[in-house]
Amino acid sequence: MVYSNNYTLTLRMVLMKNFDREKLQWFRQQLQKWAEANLRDFPWRQTSDPYALLVAEFLLQQTEATRVVPVYQQFMERYPTLESLASTPLEEISDLLYPLGFHFRAARLQQAAKLIRTRYGGRVPEKEAELLKLPGVGKYTARSLCASAFGQPLAVLDTNVARILERFFGLQGGRVKSRDGMLWDAAQRVAPQTDVSRWNLTLLDFGAAVCTASHPRCRDCPLQQQCEYFTKGSVLG
Ligand code: SF4
Repeated sequence: MVYSNNYTLTLRMVLMKNFDREKLQWFRQQLQKWAEANLRDFPWRQTSDPYALLVAEFLLQQTEATRVVPVYQQFMERYPTLESLASTPLEEISDLLYPLGFHFRAARLQQAAKLIRTRYGGRVPEKEAELLKLPGVGKYTARSLCASAFGQPLAVLDTNVARILERFFGLQGGRVKSRDGMLWDAAQRVAPQTDVSRWNLTLLDFGAAVCTASHPRCRDCPLQQQCEYFTKGSVLG
C-alpha cells in the first residue's frame, strides 16, 4: 500500500499518541495471559503443513470456524496432498464444500493448487508477494499463512482485530477495515516480535469471545483497566 508523505506523517502521529510503550506492553501481556487459558483448539491449529493451512484459510474465509471443522476433516482425508487436490474433478470438491456456501471458493482453491503445482513445484510459496498472486488469496490470507506455516512475524487484520484495536487504543479506522492502512500498520505495531502466529490467533479468539461486535463483555475483560472504550464510558456490557 502506498501512502502520501502527509498521510504517513499523520498516521505516525496518531499511532505514536495512542501507542505508549508501557500501554502496549501491558496490552500484549494481558492478551498473552488470556490466551493461555482461552485459545480455541481446531484441527488446523495442530498442524504446520503449509498445504493443510492453505486449505483451512480458504475454508475459513467468511465462515464460522465451528462450521468448518467437519468439512475440513473430510477434505483432508479425501485430499491429503496438494497433488490430490489439483488432480481431482472440480465437481467433487464443490460437492464437499457445498455446506459452507461461497461456492466459488472450490474453484479458486483448486486453481491455487494447480498454480502452486506448476509454478512452485507443488510447494506452497513462502513470500507474501507470491501468495498474493494466487487466486482467492488476499492480504489477510497471505499474511496469516506466512505466520502460521512459515513462522514469519506478520500480523493480520480482520474485523475482529480492527475492533479490538479501535476500542482499546481509541483509534478510528475507515468503514472498510480490511483496506485501512492505518489499522494494518497498527496491527503490525502491536504484534510481539516472536510467535506472531499465536498472537494472530489470540486476537481472533479474543474478538470472537470477549470484545465482540454488539455486546462486548467489558466487565469480564482483562483489558478494561486501560481500554479507551471502557474508560471513556462507551461500555454497555
Ligand atoms: S474493555 Fe470492552 S471494549 Fe475494551 S477491549 Fe475489553 S471487551 Fe473490548
